[in-house]
Amino acid sequence: MSKKYRGKTCVYCGLEKTSSTADHVIARQFFGVADRGNQPKVPACEACNNAKSQLELYILSVMPMGGLQKGVGDMILNQVKPRLSKNDALRAALANGSRPRFFWNLETGWQEGMTLPFDGDKLAKLSTFIARGLAWYHWGLQLAPVADMRANMFSARGEEYWENAWNHPDFVDHIDAVLGSGVFQYRGARSRKSPLVSLWQMSYFGGATLGDTAQRGESARSIFVASQHRDNWPSAAAT
Ligand SMILES: [Zn+2]
Repeated sequence: MSKKYRGKTCVYCGLEKTSSTADHVIARQFFGVADRGNQPKVPACEACNNAKSQLELYILSVMPMGGLQKGVGDMILNQVKPRLSKNDALRAALANGSRPRFFWNLETGWQEGMTLPFDGDKLAKLSTFIARGLAWYHWGLQLAPVADMRANMFSARGEEYWENAWNHPDFVDHIDAVLGSGVFQYRGARSRKSPLVSLWQMSYFGGATLGDTAQRGESARSIFVASQHRDNWPSAAAT
């Protein structure tokens, strides 16, 4: 591995001289084989790399079922099923928690489908890892350990707030990217005045629908992540 990624500060936890690997900020398994080259990489320590891999495995096993992007059917068949076949506990949890649900289809009317239990905390945690990785990758901005990150599903109100912030003159260095034919899309900007303030919007699998368990009835297609100095958040609980 190149020296660029070894013995450096881990972008995820901020511990100095601990990186032992080049971590793909968005795991390569998210993408079809043709799209796997040249994706963002950052220096990461072993512990963070492992913690992030666990989250990725969960998201990759569950979330493509709600995905919209072209080829997601193939992805479920070729990638998700083999992954689930190796994970008895997760497969059982999904089978026990699945519920019938009706979907409206313009051509055929109501159709029966299925909703799967989904641990939104895992997606939120993974998204904060990704935001830390992208901040370093695009701007050389090391957020950990001084900044804390918060992640939420995007409610309609959250979306309005986010757009206002994104368009505010204090936010600069805008990034707007689509990776792997739309499998992962994100936007990011950071504050000119407060170096640790950044905001991100991410959508997975072409905008898979995310049910928000905290706000029943509201669903979202993307995740919002914000960072700032840990002393500036109103309460102690951070993700
Ligand atoms: Zn680390």
